[in-house]
Amino acid sequence: MSPASRLLLNRRLIEAPIDAIDYVITHELCHMAVPHHGAEFFELLGLVLPDWSRRKQRLEEAMA
Ligand SMILES: [Zn+2]
Repeated sequence: MSPASRLLLNRRLIEAPIDAIDYVITHELCHMAVPHHGAEFFELLGLVLPDWSRRKQRLEEAMA
């Protein structure tokens, strides 16, 4: 998210698996409620997307 709350996505993301793309968008939307990466953020992310860690791993593999 930008400081003006605009959601900007990396162009290369289109090459990633759809569940990894969902992870990125969900991650960024959670930042609308919690701007940092503290415990509160990951608690929210886990509620919305319980398998976020697996999706993040797939994203990292696709972007490597
Ligand atoms: Zn983040």
